[in-house]
Amino acid sequence: MRFFYLITGLLLWQMSTAQQNTPALSDEFVLVIHGGAGTILKKNMTPEKEKAYNDALEMALKIGYDTLKKGGTALDAVEMAVRYMEDCPLFNAGKGAVFTNEGKNELDAAIMNGKTLAAGSIAGVTTIKNPISTARAVMEKSNHVMLIGKGAEKFAAENHQTIVDPSYFFTEQRWEALQDAKREDSLKQTQKTPDHLALKQPENRDYKYGTVGAVALDRYGNLAAATSTGGMTNKKFGRVGDAPIIGAGTYANNKTCAISCTGWGEYFIRLTMAKTISDMMEFGNWKLTDATNEMVMKRLPALGGDGGLIALDKDGNITLPFCTEGMYRGFVRQDGKTTVKIYKE
Ligand code: ASP
Repeated sequence: MRFFYLITGLLLWQMSTAQQNTPALSDEFVLVIHGGAGTILKKNMTPEKEKAYNDALEMALKIGYDTLKKGGTALDAVEMAVRYMEDCPLFNAGKGAVFTNEGKNELDAAIMNGKTLAAGSIAGVTTIKNPISTARAVMEKSNHVMLIGKGAEKFAAENHQTIVDPSYFFTEQRWEALQDAKREDSLKQTQKTPDHLALKQPENRDYKYGTVGAVALDRYGNLAAATSTGGMTNKKFGRVGDAPIIGAGTYANNKTCAISCTGWGEYFIRLTMAKTISDMMEFGNWKLTDATNEMVMKRLPALGGDGGLIALDKDGNITLPFCTEGMYRGFVRQDGKTTVKIYKE
């Protein structure tokens, strides 16, 4: 009998320690996405086009939501949501990416784990179907953070990523946008605009932005961020934007927030946008919305740039500021109710 009590006691003790070691799954989780900021005006939109964007944003949210609901990680959710948008030709990432000056599609992407501060990114690739998944592979299967060009493509092939012919990324709309941008360029040349002014001249921004991104808080209390882009139409000389630069266009830290940016990348790099917001929260006790408003609505335009971002803090607060005419965006919480928006409120 004494033996029976001993064994039962031992079993109960083991069960309670196991429970203490397994963190209880929270019921709360959040996913926020964007499909790019720019001069997105209702008057330039057809009802069909508007519906197509709304449907695509809804679908990306649903994919991420299902992942989080069944206990998937924030990393899984942001990767899945971004992958969907990369495959969707409406957005400037993966299929549907903008063209460089040389008529190529050169893609950048980054992903970051807020729990460990692990990060992976790739830049200037032309044959990787889903750059965000390769960025994740860099984070999880290499000793590096950032791989570029041919090296990144070699790594992708060795790590079972889907490789496509560069023609896969072609879309007529983006090709036309490149021709428009080139015409605009040559007009500027003939008007002999000094270089420092040329950068500030209004350009056809609608075609230029369109990066996709996602941030998530999962049921384990962890944050993650992911961003993927074709960059900016007519970019030259192997230009890399903010999206794959950890701390500029992409950042996640469980202590503060997860952020994915979209807009004129050069300015986001110069402001070290995402990490600055995280630092304002960590070292200056700023609230998420105050920090993002300061950076996106004040510092960014003050420098001459524009764009927006999505941000999510460790307590599940979200904000989606932009200083452009519009930003494709959406979010969903554990109740499954999705919100998608395009224009200014
Ligand atoms: N931020 C991106 C870049 O500069 C462009 C975008 O948001 O569409 O590469």
